[in-house]
Amino acid sequence: MGIVKSPSVLAFEQQAREEAAMELMAQGVISFEMTPRQQAAYDEAVRYAAEIDARERAHFEQLPERIVAENQRVLDDLNAGKLYLANETSDSAVVIHFASCAAVRHQVDRDVAHEFELAHAGELEGSWHSGSGYDYVAKWPNLMTLDEVEQLRAYRACQRCNPDTKERRKFAALNPKPSKLSSITIDRIGREYETVEGEPLGTLRSFTVSADGVTLHCSERDFAGGRDDLVVLRPRVQR
Ligand SMILES: [Zn+2]
Repeated sequence: MGIVKSPSVLAFEQQAREEAAMELMAQGVISFEMTPRQQAAYDEAVRYAAEIDARERAHFEQLPERIVAENQRVLDDLNAGKLYLANETSDSAVVIHFASCAAVRHQVDRDVAHEFELAHAGELEGSWHSGSGYDYVAKWPNLMTLDEVEQLRAYRACQRCNPDTKERRKFAALNPKPSKLSSITIDRIGREYETVEGEPLGTLRSFTVSADGVTLHCSERDFAGGRDDLVVLRPRVQR
């Protein structure tokens, strides 16, 4: 059975072929008569490539200075008590590390963050590539104080450095939304309720439905109202 190539692989191969052809033309290996429009497009491509080269050169020239400045910013953050690093992961959960965690060293130490770029500094990738190496730079360390961490709606603690956050895993509290008394079912027995004004009613023990409406019998007090009157179900306490 042959290998089935995905559309993105095919597109990449096509682009690589086109770029290779352009490169050969630029080197004078391939030449043919061009129409004025082709000539204009070709000249534009050459001009654009020169611009990219210039940008790359400037990027590499300024790199050492930028790394020094970045390390200083990190140091300032650490000195301001921001000893925790919050990393957003692909599943949009936030993982909290100590800034000293080995797993995030490549982010915190900006020399390491720019290692790939430094290793390739000055190597221009040729006219037809943008290759400044920028994509390989480790992302900026999002440093926080413990207070700031605890204010996050949700997070989980890195299992490697085991930071001293209040919880190992904090779940986002659902925004309590009022619901109509008529929507309350037996599944809600044991859940906590409060009034829309925020007065706690306590745990729902039972409820009574009558022609006039619904009465909730809660651990703090009863709450009676019409079918469309509102009450607030408090989020479950997560642990
Ligand atoms: Zn960690």
